[in-house]
Amino acid sequence: MIPSHTTAAVLTAPRGTIAVASVPVAEPGAGEVLVRMEACGLCHSDLFVASLEKLPRVPLTLGHEGIGRVEAVGDGEGAAGVHGFAVGDRVGITFLASTCGACEFCLTGRERFCPRQLNFGYTVDGALAAYAVVPAPLLFRVPDALPAADAAPLCCAGWTAYGALREAGLRPGQSVALFGMGGLGHLAIQYARHLGLRVAAVDLSESKLEMARSLGADLALSAENAGRTLQKQWGGADAAIVLTGSPVAIQEAFRSLKRTGTLITSGLSTNQYELPIVDTVLKGISIRGSYLGTRADLEEVFRLAQSGVGRAHIETHALDQAPELFEKMRRGEILGRAVVLF
Ligand SMILES: [Zn+2]
Ligand SMILES: [Zn+2]
Repeated sequence: MIPSHTTAAVLTAPRGTIAVASVPVAEPGAGEVLVRMEACGLCHSDLFVASLEKLPRVPLTLGHEGIGRVEAVGDGEGAAGVHGFAVGDRVGITFLASTCGACEFCLTGRERFCPRQLNFGYTVDGALAAYAVVPAPLLFRVPDALPAADAAPLCCAGWTAYGALREAGLRPGQSVALFGMGGLGHLAIQYARHLGLRVAAVDLSESKLEMARSLGADLALSAENAGRTLQKQWGGADAAIVLTGSPVAIQEAFRSLKRTGTLITSGLSTNQYELPIVDTVLKGISIRGSYLGTRADLEEVFRLAQSGVGRAHIETHALDQAPELFEKMRRGEILGRAVVLF
């Protein structure tokens, strides 16, 4: 049965408040499915969206780490329904809602760079709602064995962290410095260790560094002077991955690199960073942005989680707690990931 309304965490206006409200549910159209949500994680990028001066649409349902089950299927291809999805299937909703399917990026497995993409919780309504009508092509299958609350953070935090590590192109035995020990960082440590890398974790918060140590970080450093400390202790890192949007973190990450090292930025922010040109040139530094990952990366992230690698540290709450949880997140007070259970 398709409900007429659902409760959702809604951004009321650009830079407005986040409120829990009742919003209408549409019937799934051609190529769409209705998902009954089981869990959705809260991501810093939701706050980034909430901080933007202009948004394509408001009120906007936030959320792009959703796990749920297909409740109804619109018209589409295939005997089982839309793109092979049937009622009852377990699916994951990420930041990618739809892409054009025809550009050079879509045709080469890099649809996350499609210039015509739509994004859940940004350009279309997201997954922080008990029910969501979503396009089927970019839904992911989620193993039934993974509890929804554990799987939800993997849809953005896990995928992004794993994608950034793969983007760094390191070999086992090389070193990586991870800046930002939030939802992404605490998963990135686990993937980095799984990939056989030497891991330094950097953050401002002592409790987050404590968690990093417990997850097996070889070094856990306060952000202040992290660059100099890494130069002294390791002779620099082969790669530094910045999982926050803080310019100070980017600066320290740059300083932490070995000659010919790679700086990967993966946290969203409207801040600016001035490029140190001389060091970039003379030390042969590569600087890359990393956004989500490939489809295969997310499938691997789900597989790894089933084998115990990349388990998110979660706290679970009801949807009506979402506004307060976002405030806690803004203040940096959430350890691991906050997940809403429906
Ligand atoms: Zn996210
Ligand atoms: Zn495209």
